[in-house]
Amino acid sequence: MTNLAPRLSDLGLAGDRPLLLIDVDEVLGLFMKGFGDFVAAHGLEFRMERFALFQNIYRPGETTHLPLEQGQPLFDDFFATACHQIEPAQGAPEALARLSRHAEILILSNAPKPAEGLRRQWLAAHGMDYPLVLNSGPKGPIAQGLIAQAKGPFAFVDDLISNLDSVSDHAPHVATFQHVADTRLRSFAPASDRHPRHDDWQSLGDALEAAVRV
Ligand SMILES: [Mg+2]
Repeated sequence: MTNLAPRLSDLGLAGDRPLLLIDVDEVLGLFMKGFGDFVAAHGLEFRMERFALFQNIYRPGETTHLPLEQGQPLFDDFFATACHQIEPAQGAPEALARLSRHAEILILSNAPKPAEGLRRQWLAAHGMDYPLVLNSGPKGPIAQGLIAQAKGPFAFVDDLISNLDSVSDHAPHVATFQHVADTRLRSFAPASDRHPRHDDWQSLGDALEAAVRV
């Protein structure tokens, strides 16, 4: 997949309003919990022991994680068949509904392409029926292409510092915020002084509203 940004007008988004770019996994939805439940249904254990994915998958009773190459098929299968079963992050749908009065909202997810239909369905089912764009790799290039089409102000939310840094590097005037939805994950998640962190959506919603108020 290239990082060519789609046209905002094709997504039904206005270029003359503030624009919010919002991640899904661990921002709008509890991915780790959902993936953990999926892994458990395959007779494996997901242990929340570090800010990682495949290194947290174990066979029951074992102390060494599953070989990493065995995690990828589970991950792909989860996104192709079960990613619509994750729980929404507490307060996220309400916060987006409130923010949508002041700003355009675009959901920017690094889910693999086969997840697109189920991810759209999941967003709609939880009252978050905003345009969805799938990306792969760092989010800076696509964010740069998206915001070039609009007036701003702009803000971006992700759980991963790598994506937040990428957006700041490519589009320095985008306000960046970190959010880690899963309470069990918060103590493991790396943070950065570059990106204010708000782990509850009430506080994040307030910060986003302040960042894009015109
Ligand atoms: Mg994420």
